[in-house]
Amino acid sequence: MTTVAAYAAPAAKAPLERTTIERRAVGEFDVLIDIEFAGICHSDIHQAREGWGEAIFPMVPGHEIAGVVSEVGPGVTKFKVGDRVGVGCLVDSCRECANCKAGLEQHCTAGAVGTYNAVGKDGEPTYGGYSQKVVVDENFTVRIPDGLSLDVAAPLLCAGITTYSPLKHWGAGPGKKVAVIGLGGLGHMGVKIAHALGAEVTVLSQSLRKKDDGLKLGADHYYATSDPKTFEDLAGSFDLILSTVSAPLDFGAYLSLLKTGGALVNVGAPEEPIGLNLFSLIGGNKTLAGSMIGGIAETQEMLDFCAEHSLGAEIELIRADQINEAYERVLASDVRYRFVIDTATI
Ligand code: NAP
Ligand code: ZN
Ligand code: ZN
Repeated sequence: MTTVAAYAAPAAKAPLERTTIERRAVGEFDVLIDIEFAGICHSDIHQAREGWGEAIFPMVPGHEIAGVVSEVGPGVTKFKVGDRVGVGCLVDSCRECANCKAGLEQHCTAGAVGTYNAVGKDGEPTYGGYSQKVVVDENFTVRIPDGLSLDVAAPLLCAGITTYSPLKHWGAGPGKKVAVIGLGGLGHMGVKIAHALGAEVTVLSQSLRKKDDGLKLGADHYYATSDPKTFEDLAGSFDLILSTVSAPLDFGAYLSLLKTGGALVNVGAPEEPIGLNLFSLIGGNKTLAGSMIGGIAETQEMLDFCAEHSLGAEIELIRADQINEAYERVLASDVRYRFVIDTATI
């Protein structure tokens, strides 16, 4: 066991504070990672405040981890000391069910083990990336390509894969009109990736405050959803809409922006349910779908794609003692576009 400095929420809704945690000894197939950067995902805030239901405390959030391997177990074949690596939302799964075998470990039917707010196969709680080191099975560790620096790569481990997977699955590409709702952590990666895939990209944001940024990130068009005219002008426009919004939304209004046969894919995870008039799906043969992160192989594919297209996240690097302030700014939609913790400051 190794004692490691970390930032933890001691209880639901309590501010995060510096503490220490124990990391397990490096097992046969484990790598020890010296964490350099950890992104702050809105999911960290939902969980630290028990917005999704009962959680495990103390909680060390963080599932956008980038660092360097400093030790490997005797059975490790994929990584060596000095390798630049990442860890996302998962640290284990059964590896035997149909979903695991299909590379959909996030949907493991026996229950995948989350990077934090979960219990590992050893019966111990898992602790995430707001810490200086983590021990992870090599099969849940991915390689960060040389072309990406670790700070801008960290957010790809959740924001990158969560947008890449549905954009690929639902065919974002040349000739397709794609809208991204919400220009936050996920949304800004969605814009970059959809643009790199060759789609015509529109941002649907609450206001025009971030319009210049959105266009620089690769959007072709930018609209404010606070303006009712947006919904008139864009009716029936899109092949695909990706919602990254963290709060309940009037999905009926957004479904009216799809072409016949179009799909609205939701990745946002608001704390309350939404109401939906199902006629908004029936008229126009529309699809409303969901998507959860991505499997390990697809996460590696996404990192390689992002390196090839020079797509890092736009980040604001913070010290660990700024985490609570950063949470408030995320909740106020005041993030440009991902807070990343320099874990050397923990
Ligand atoms: P974020 O950085 O806070 O971005 C969310 C964006 O949604 C905001 O920047 C804002 O964009 C927009 N928004 C916020 N409140 C809104 C409201 N009341 N009405 C309309 N728009 C609103 O959060 P994130 O880290 O990208 O995460 C987004 C959501 O995805 C969270 O719920 C998170 O838990 C979830 N998530 C899901 C998965 C998955 O696997 N499905 C993975 C990661 C995260 P504008 O200012 O541009 O309007
Ligand atoms: Zn996340
Ligand atoms: Zn499984």
